[in-house]
Amino acid sequence: YDDNHLLSRLRAASVGREDSVFAQIPGGDPVTFGELFAGAERMAAALAAQGVRPGDRVAVQVAKTIQAIELYLGTVMAGAVFLPLNTAYITPEVAYFLGDAEPAVVVCDPARAEEIRSIAGGAQVLTLDEAGQGSLRDLAEAQVPGFRAVARGADDLAAILYTSGTTGRSKGAMLSHDNLSSNSEVLRDYWRFTAEDVLIHALPIFHTHGLFVATNVALLAGAQVIFLPGFDVDAILEAMPRATALMGVPTFYTRLLADPRLTRERAANMRLFISGSAPLLVETHRQWEARTGHRILERYGMTETNMSCSNPYEGERRAGTVGFPLPGVEARIMVEGREAEVGEVGVLEVRGRNVFKGYWQMPEKTAEELRPDGWFITGDLASVDADGYVTIVGRAKDLIISGGFNVYPKEVEEVIDDMEGVVESAVIGVPHPDFGEGVVAVVVPSDPGLTEEAVMAGLAGRLAKFKQPKRVVLVDALPRNTMGKVQKKTLREQYAGVFSN
Ligand code: ATP
Ligand code: MG
Repeated sequence: YDDNHLLSRLRAASVGREDSVFAQIPGGDPVTFGELFAGAERMAAALAAQGVRPGDRVAVQVAKTIQAIELYLGTVMAGAVFLPLNTAYITPEVAYFLGDAEPAVVVCDPARAEEIRSIAGGAQVLTLDEAGQGSLRDLAEAQVPGFRAVARGADDLAAILYTSGTTGRSKGAMLSHDNLSSNSEVLRDYWRFTAEDVLIHALPIFHTHGLFVATNVALLAGAQVIFLPGFDVDAILEAMPRATALMGVPTFYTRLLADPRLTRERAANMRLFISGSAPLLVETHRQWEARTGHRILERYGMTETNMSCSNPYEGERRAGTVGFPLPGVEARIMVEGREAEVGEVGVLEVRGRNVFKGYWQMPEKTAEELRPDGWFITGDLASVDADGYVTIVGRAKDLIISGGFNVYPKEVEEVIDDMEGVVESAVIGVPHPDFGEGVVAVVVPSDPGLTEEAVMAGLAGRLAKFKQPKRVVLVDALPRNTMGKVQKKTLREQYAGVFSN
């Protein structure tokens, strides 16, 4: 694998340990490192035999299995570009992505094959985990392992990952071999992953978090994973006594906390709980520490930048912050062309080997956000405290300007979430005839007796008048996507008319 920048690095830690287990699969046979890479070699050989050439895109919409990981590694080994798609996307959405990415091959689950074939255009459609016509598994099994990895350098593309589509249409982020290997190596070292670790792998593999942070870090450390097909409270609790680390999104932690089986004893073997992809409530932090004795380590990243900031492994993990820029990552907070003072909110920019190569087929958007000097404008608002801890204040697109004043939704949400009888909230701005935008709080009550008036009353005296919501709406749940991100765009559309009559 020597000439393939990413693959050579992902395999290095397991050379000579081919018989060690990489993945424990509850209810299935364990998979060794040797089996994993042999499987990847077969996938690479099968893709090459189907005519996949270096630089071609291989689009993949499949359930989370070890074969899917072999397909990821095999695609990179064949010199091609791995392009995973969210399994929740329905056919018209997939059609958009295929039209945008123009892959040579699309790999899907058998149940979806017919529909995908009808929209695949010139791409060849293969299935995973099915015998018969068009089965990539059959094609791979017919190959002998020992495929010689196609030479690829640091700047060649390894993957195109679409952003989560939280603020608008998903964009394809072009990620090079070096973007991925350098960032995952930094994370492995920063979070002290070694071959002794057993990571609970419960994240989807179509997103940067589960694909690169979890999978690549485990491989680079030669660590073991407990490979779960998805987030499942029972399975995670069952795995915890045998595991050392968990990577999750905030909803993992709140849902685990809702289960009385989460105890200090159950978490005794664990050394690290990591959270990211969406903001972790300070309250969740507090409850988790009280229940398990562990402080969650929160980190921050984006599809475009991989991981940029992390709380420290040793030293204080400061709740409500995402810690410090990672080694090799430069970060700055800009306000009207100058750097922000301590505590001042501005737009976060990052630079380093972690930053992507641009948006696929969107040169103008790339030019707007990725400067020639390497600084990438994240679109997130942030501040830094006197000790250097970075706080993500929210997305610039979610900032509310009401009557000419800036309202940061997170500040209002924190006050509401702190109230008796409230589970959580989302604060948005919608058109208002007098103020431009009016503040609306969408609140999930835990107490069925909670009223809109009580929420309003609870805010008086705790926030300046212009920050207080002009309308409170009580709902059963907030709309979230598969990564647990609150869909504020959906809420803004839903409540767009509340002030218009
Ligand atoms: P799109 O770019 O398509 O609108 P998206 O930004 O949600 O979607 P991702 O790349 O998956 O797509 O998510 C990156 C964003 O997630 C960051 O820009 C930030 O807003 C948010 N995020 C990630 N980690 C954290 C964190 N620890 N705290 C707060 N926000 C976070
Ligand atoms: Mg984004």
